[in-house]
Amino acid sequence: MDAAHARPVHHRDSPQLDASTGLPNRSAMHQRLHAGLQRGEALGLLMIDLDRFRRINDALGQAAGDQLLRLAGQRLQQALPDAELLAGVGGDEFAVLLKNADLAAVGERVLQAFAQPFEVAGREVFVSCSIGCASTAEQGCDVNELLRQAATALQSAKSAGRNGLHLFTAFPDELDPDALLLESALRRAVERRQLQLHYQLQVDLATGLIVGAEALLRWRHPELGDVSPARFIPIAEESGLIVPIGEWVMREAIAAGASWQRAGLPRLRIAVNLSGRELRQPGLAQRIEQLLVEGGLDPRWLAVEVTESMLINNFAQTSATLLRLQGLGVEVAIDDFGTGYSGLNYLRQLPVDVVKIDRGFISDVAAPPGEVSMTRSLIQFAHSLRLKVVAEGIETERQRELLTAQRCDLGQGFLFGAAQPVDRLRQLLEAQALPRDEA
Ligand code: C2E
Ligand code: MG
Ligand code: MG
Repeated sequence: MDAAHARPVHHRDSPQLDASTGLPNRSAMHQRLHAGLQRGEALGLLMIDLDRFRRINDALGQAAGDQLLRLAGQRLQQALPDAELLAGVGGDEFAVLLKNADLAAVGERVLQAFAQPFEVAGREVFVSCSIGCASTAEQGCDVNELLRQAATALQSAKSAGRNGLHLFTAFPDELDPDALLLESALRRAVERRQLQLHYQLQVDLATGLIVGAEALLRWRHPELGDVSPARFIPIAEESGLIVPIGEWVMREAIAAGASWQRAGLPRLRIAVNLSGRELRQPGLAQRIEQLLVEGGLDPRWLAVEVTESMLINNFAQTSATLLRLQGLGVEVAIDDFGTGYSGLNYLRQLPVDVVKIDRGFISDVAAPPGEVSMTRSLIQFAHSLRLKVVAEGIETERQRELLTAQRCDLGQGFLFGAAQPVDRLRQLLEAQALPRDEA
């Protein structure tokens, strides 16, 4: 659609109608909003923008573009029978006014309505939309302010990857705008199954055999690209999304472990990271037990990884949970050991089976004899407590040799491979199965 058509057209004969959609126009929407605010109504506003409308317009021609706008308007009308007002506010934008509505739920309905293709110019065209929501409940009761808030939220929804919904909130934006964008994108990612689990090998340093794999989350967003778990896990924690995500991870990892076993591959223990919020959930141990039963995996083949700081906050509850998991046979590992507050002695009190030395320390295993090496001390100390030691982040052959000489039990790191998709790990296990079966 060219610029002249993209702007709202004010017909002389029908000053309140939008020419391209036949819906009430922007000025009608302003009037209705104004009147509602004067009466003190609790109004919500959805601004809806078709994603990449321009591309469709360019590819199929303007007549098809206009047809699509009309069809989109009709579909919105069908999806939102209880809207106070649905307006075409210019270009490929629509506005919806609602009274006393759950905006997120309504927005979700709109996104669903656009999941089906449109028939335009004799073919099927998929077009998604981005939605910004604001409501008079949030703050202020001025038409312009409400419009500005909805526009800001719409912009956030677009930057978060489109085909999504963003609610305007007054404060958190100022704290960390990126986090807010990521949060709404992450919410969609869960629904759209953009999250994947990859697995990183854990190798028995004495034998060189694969004996375990750590499940690590991967998020490939269609527009933001790969988002690191170091970035999105804290956001998932803050928002509570970690609970459904964590449950999905646990179920998925258990299913992978059980399927490898059923395929007769070498047995390996699957390690799953738990976040602080998950660990504080009441009933976590029972939930994991249930997932193990459902997935058909013996608890001995599962490990959970927690960090020191998670244990220290709320020690009584978390250690009860971990003890219960240990009781089932699940292995408990302390992740990133050495980066938290606790000294070596603290290890005595923790309900753990395994210490994972943080990769930040691994290179110090090469310190000359006589110099302090956190890694060497930790291996000895952990062994004196009958704990198993995993070295994280092994990148060089020299590190592997020295750690093996220090009798570190397991190793994990780029030297053996980065985290890989589930099929790739399966191939590696199949390769390992061959010589062993012959033995
Ligand atoms: P982590 O549990 O300590 O995981 C090890 C991290 O080190 C992974 O980063 C891994 O890719 C990276 N790594 C492994 N070997 C090497 C190496 O040789 N050199 C270097 N430089 N790095 C190596 P990743 O995948 O980015 O994960 C970061 C953190 O995000 C994890 O640290 C874990 O705390 C968290 N995380 C990942 N997946 C999950 C999950 O499913 N749930 C929860 N709660 N947290 C997760
Ligand atoms: Mg870990
Ligand atoms: Mg770690």
